Amino acid sequence: MSKYTGGCHCGAVKYEVETDLEKVIECNCSHCHKKGFLLTFVDKDKFAIISGADNLSEYQFNKKAIRHLFCKTCGVQSFAEGISFPQIAINVRCLDDVDTKSLSIEQYNGKDI
Ligand SMILES: [Zn+2]
Repeated sequence: MSKYTGGCHCGAVKYEVETDLEKVIECNCSHCHKKGFLLTFVDKDKFAIISGADNLSEYQFNKKAIRHLFCKTCGVQSFAEGISFPQIAINVRCLDDVDTKSLSIEQYNGKDI
């Protein structure tokens, strides 16, 4: 496991996460597709917000299984919090110093679930 930092575009929202980036998915559901996410999931105790918790707004849809949290200033959704499962979804594109081209990315068929 390595420690990464990540956050939104404007810098208001910052977090720290421990992950090995072993499983990264690109999901084709209506939401992930439009936002262009590359996601990895971590247990909540591997994730900590450093700043900007009060600058987050929330979006939920469909089964409301996930709190989609985005920066009120720049709109970037750098992570999401599971409601029906105890994990955080990390937007790997929002991690500092990660070359997404070097990752093996699994295609996930969220559209048909
Ligand atoms: Zn921001």
